[in-house]
Amino acid sequence: MRVLLTGVAGFLGSHLADRLIAEGHSVIGLDNFITGNKENLDHLAGNDNFSFIRHDVANFIFVPGDIDYVVHFASPASPNPTSPLGYPNLPIQTLKAGALGTHNSLGVARAYKAKFLLASTSEIYGDPLEHPQKETYRGNVDPIGTRSVYDEAKRFAEALTMAYHRFHNIDTRIVRIFNTYGPRMRLDDGRVVPNFIQQALRGEPLTIYGDGTQTRSFCYVNDLIEGVYRLMMSDYHEPVNIGNPDEISICGLAELVNELIGNQAGTVIKLAKRLPSDPMKRQPDITRARTVLDWEPSITFREGLLATIPYFRQKLQL
Ligand code: NAD
Ligand code: UDP
Repeated sequence: MRVLLTGVAGFLGSHLADRLIAEGHSVIGLDNFITGNKENLDHLAGNDNFSFIRHDVANFIFVPGDIDYVVHFASPASPNPTSPLGYPNLPIQTLKAGALGTHNSLGVARAYKAKFLLASTSEIYGDPLEHPQKETYRGNVDPIGTRSVYDEAKRFAEALTMAYHRFHNIDTRIVRIFNTYGPRMRLDDGRVVPNFIQQALRGEPLTIYGDGTQTRSFCYVNDLIEGVYRLMMSDYHEPVNIGNPDEISICGLAELVNELIGNQAGTVIKLAKRLPSDPMKRQPDITRARTVLDWEPSITFREGLLATIPYFRQKLQL
């Protein structure tokens, strides 16, 4: 297949490009580098099955030649307001990537009669009142909170995807991605795993926002990409959660990172309160992925962190 992949210079987009090329497909990657990193694509330079278009998905997308599949991953993804790359600091760009970017990407799929996959998110469940979160849960999102630029854009993107599926008969899929980590995350994007690993490698205390009792469920990137690839190859149109149900508190994560890196500096509560609209807990119910895709994660958090730490060590030259 010839696959148009938006957000290709990002953490997940670059890993998905590698997987698609390894499976024998060719990838036309598109990105405007707003939160991505050119280095994530260095290894693809000169590869006949890869080409790149520098473009903002919020604007009309033109791709020369036929397209068989459109995969829309372009969007800022870090909620951290203390990072310039966090979507609270890119609010209009985030709304446009999720809304106009999804519209333009679906437009390409329609023009070429291509299949389509949307990268959605566990954030569409907001600060969930149902736990763990099944795909049937409708969420608890503050429509005007600082996270709403991301959450509501993704909710709109899901609605638009289903509208194109129902009204234009586009062959669509929606993956709801839960917290994923691994090599190629940006050091400075403010998400908790890169923040904690780099603080531990520098021998600094880890900064916990709030009291650290909030929980997340972290999935290693290889497991996530396997789930996304299986969904791409399936003919399932309803949203599918992909994530690791192994839930841990942010305090627990801090202790684990300090133990694995041997950091004696401990932790420090950076902010008296959690970040605004910071969900208290999050865990995917992956029954649907198990049933429809025969998928479940296979890499433990400990194994995944041990595979991720050397990447950050090398980036920091420590
Ligand atoms: P990332 O920031 O590393 O990658 C996003 C990429 O999209 C970047 O390369 C960025 O430059 C590009 N981009 C953003 N806006 C664009 C625009 N207007 N035009 C062109 N390119 C643009 O983030 P990521 O973690 O790789 O996330 C990728 C996708 O997966 C996003 O849609 C995100 O919402 C979704 N997701 C990720 C996670 C996670 O834990 N990593 C969780 C849920 C959902
Ligand atoms: N967090 C933290 N310290 C940091 C970065 C994040 O305590 O340096 C917390 C954050 O407040 C949230 C959790 O870790 O409760 C996960 O944050 P992340 O930005 O990775 O993504 P989220 O799951 O909130 O989208």
